[in-house]
Amino acid sequence: MTELAEAPKVTREGIARISHWIGGRTVAGESGRSGPVWNPATGEQTGEVDFATPEEVDKAVQAAKKAFSAWRAVSLSRRQDLFFRIRQLVHERKEEIAKILTAQHGKVLSDALGEVQRGLEVVEFACGIPTLLKGGFTEQASTGIDVYSIRQPLGVVAGITPFNFPAMVPMWMWAPAIACGNTFVLKPSEKDPSASLYVAELLKEAGLPDGVFNVVHGDKVAVDAVLEHRDIAAVSFVGSTPIARYIYETGTRLGKRVQALGGAKNHMIVLPDADIDMAADAAVSAAYGSAGERCMAISHVVAVGDAGGKLVEAITSRLPKIKVGNGMEPDVEMGPLVTREHRDKVASYLESGPAQGATLVADGRETAPEGDGFFLGVSLLDDVTPEMDAYKDEIFGPVLGVTRVDTYDEALRMVNENPYGNGTAIFTRDGGVARQFQFDVQVGMVGINVPIPVPVAYYSFGGWKASLFGDRHVYGPEGIDFYTRGKVVTSRWPDPATSKVTLERYPPAGELAIRDESVHASRSSRRASASSTRPASSRTQP
Ligand code: NAD
Repeated sequence: MTELAEAPKVTREGIARISHWIGGRTVAGESGRSGPVWNPATGEQTGEVDFATPEEVDKAVQAAKKAFSAWRAVSLSRRQDLFFRIRQLVHERKEEIAKILTAQHGKVLSDALGEVQRGLEVVEFACGIPTLLKGGFTEQASTGIDVYSIRQPLGVVAGITPFNFPAMVPMWMWAPAIACGNTFVLKPSEKDPSASLYVAELLKEAGLPDGVFNVVHGDKVAVDAVLEHRDIAAVSFVGSTPIARYIYETGTRLGKRVQALGGAKNHMIVLPDADIDMAADAAVSAAYGSAGERCMAISHVVAVGDAGGKLVEAITSRLPKIKVGNGMEPDVEMGPLVTREHRDKVASYLESGPAQGATLVADGRETAPEGDGFFLGVSLLDDVTPEMDAYKDEIFGPVLGVTRVDTYDEALRMVNENPYGNGTAIFTRDGGVARQFQFDVQVGMVGINVPIPVPVAYYSFGGWKASLFGDRHVYGPEGIDFYTRGKVVTSRWPDPATSKVTLERYPPAGELAIRDESVHASRSSRRASASSTRPASSRTQP
């Protein structure tokens, strides 16, 4: 494999080559396999990303392994200092990062900036690593015996991330993992791989030692190499449910610690007493923001009683105002989908939905901007039932479904019977009902009059059911738990009475002069008793 100080920026016909980042430098792939990277707003190919072989993945793991012993020994105050610098650099460069996101993912710049901001909050959380790694201490658990718990890093850990948050989701993983003393190998989505390389350079600039953070690009070949690598202790995954299940089953079978977050179908229940304008605004921003390519997007509204008619009318009246176009333009509110294939798949539900009995209220195919970009306008499907594909599948695009039901119980049952359990929201003015919903609903993240309840960085993020495989959510306290393992130390020191240190010299002379005789007297009597009996600690040892 050839190592280059800099990636070849542009190859044929203005298409940038996108390479790996191993041991603190760009490393060009040699597999001969690669994938296209598109600008979804124009439909043009802008990049070609190298796909790693198992040997190339191994090279990244070896760089991480080599860096581990020195990195885990770095003091917490130095790690904290470094994270403050990382925080500052990400903050200063957030517009550059956002532009990379928009150019490869398609989301509008304001959404891209929001993504960087939410990721930054996890970096800020990681700045508190000295506090987060504090252990417990019990003095005198038994006579002369102290017990304390510490948390230590796992070693080399890996992250495999989806296309829809190419900066934020990796930050959910590498920030806590590295702060805890692990070294990291990231396999980002091959669809929008450049943000992770920009961040890699930024981490180096902040002073992170080479090898602590590595990036390998690729497809299933690279992912399988990560799963099978003996030197990787843990894998964090975020992506679709079938792949999450595969990652969890394979990784745990091979002895790794795994957290694998999957797909979603997030319901928003609107009760008859809700503020309909508030609920309609929330549904529109939560369904169509980032073109619906969010795992916490509201993709389905369940309207109870007479809320249905009013809500559909209020949502419909808002749709023509949403400006769809190139996310680089300042007044655009919704960009394209990530690839042509994905756009076509999303659009297919506008065929199958009505064919299976839904009412197509707004058809995004009619309102998509002209041109070669992967655009689809906003779409609304009413009268959706649980048997329809538009309900069963995670559409992951700007298509909002609506089901009308008669009672709160029916709405709750629908959410609980859905195989996914990532996020949900209820809109009501009744605190008692909202509290009951929070109690009953089988979903990991719940919003009360809040449509996208992504937890702040000092809580943890994760769903239930088919939205999460594993028992640890990401970031927040559970992230720290995931990236460390506990050790409990039971400690006993020889009785100070037998010590060779001349303890009589302490405390300092002035005080000693006053207490000299009594100290001498008590030392002699303790020595006498220590030599005549077994040590106190062995008498009381359980
Ligand atoms: P994806 O599952 O296709 O890909 C995710 C990662 O897995 C990528 O790095 C990809 O290269 C890799 N991958 C793809 N196919 C693979 C295979 N056959 N074997 C091994 N690895 C494979 O997901 P995506 O399309 O990039 O992202 C969208 C999905 O991610 C949606 O389902 C969305 O709900 C989900 N998501 C979930 C969360 C969450 O927190 N639960 C957050 C963001 C996205």
